[in-house]
Amino acid sequence: MSKLLRIFGRTGRSKVGSLQLACVLLSALAAGFTGCEKPRVIYKPTPLPEDLPKRFDAQRAWRDLERIVSFGPRPAGSEALAHTAGYIVEQLRATTMEVEEQTFRTNTPRGPMTFRNIIARTRPACPPRFIIAGHYDTKWFPEFRFVGANDGGSSAAAVLELARVLDKQPVDAWLVWFDGEECIKAYEGDDGLVGSTHLSRTLFNQKKLNQVQAMILLDMVGDKNFRLTLPKPYPLEQHLTKKVFEAAYALGLRDYVSLLPNAIADDHIPFLLNKVRAVDLIDFDYGNLPGQNNFWHNERDTLERCAPESLGIAGQIALELLRRVALEKWPAD
Ligand SMILES: [Zn+2]
Repeated sequence: MSKLLRIFGRTGRSKVGSLQLACVLLSALAAGFTGCEKPRVIYKPTPLPEDLPKRFDAQRAWRDLERIVSFGPRPAGSEALAHTAGYIVEQLRATTMEVEEQTFRTNTPRGPMTFRNIIARTRPACPPRFIIAGHYDTKWFPEFRFVGANDGGSSAAAVLELARVLDKQPVDAWLVWFDGEECIKAYEGDDGLVGSTHLSRTLFNQKKLNQVQAMILLDMVGDKNFRLTLPKPYPLEQHLTKKVFEAAYALGLRDYVSLLPNAIADDHIPFLLNKVRAVDLIDFDYGNLPGQNNFWHNERDTLERCAPESLGIAGQIALELLRRVALEKWPAD
């Protein structure tokens, strides 16, 4: 893991992928991340309503995003992030979901810090057949005001609306808001992907990780000029990546999905490393110059550069993907 993240440390940037990442990832998978035993729970195909994607209310998600951004910069450990967590939990109280605030302390380049993942379960104490997640922290930039409308805000808002849509649906899903996705200094050691690493470790230790049929991650899904740039899929991502294209095509949204030639370091990686099928629904081309990603990690990441329609497209694709994957038997053989 630290080796994997050290690659990103050279750039000091999150999410910059490379072919090197792929090699490290694959060798890590081959070298001993043996995952868990066979899943003990056999899931039958679960039919979810065909109109599920249409139930995603983009305007309501947008109001969540406005509220989240109103808290200001939200780096890990900040009061603003605690307010954001409070808002997410308060919204979840209006659903029938079981809500857990998973707090833990870990070392960081700024010393030991407390982090908080938020988990909402469609059914109490169910093992997670599906994990649908995004991060809600923003990167710490002391030199300028970074509100992260897209990077951190959009994923938090979209997952909140997904929770409302999935409330009372007959599927064992965990909706998760990760803390500490962003690194403080560089993506190495314990810095960055903190919340997702903690949850995947916890589930592994509880022997629940092998129950997970799919992990669907959303990140940077608010860009006004929206187009998903799926990371180059490696073996464990291939099935879900293909399903994303099928889902988007079925919804008439195929033009909003493309493939990157690179891997991307994001919260799905700790799950992939533990042999969980995972996919990152990310638009990693956020800017006004095609391919430059020039609104990313700077003061231009504001609400004016985002749009409710983009949250809606990402939300619909995520739901149609879930609906299609839930129709598959798990484990597959
Ligand atoms: Zn970021």
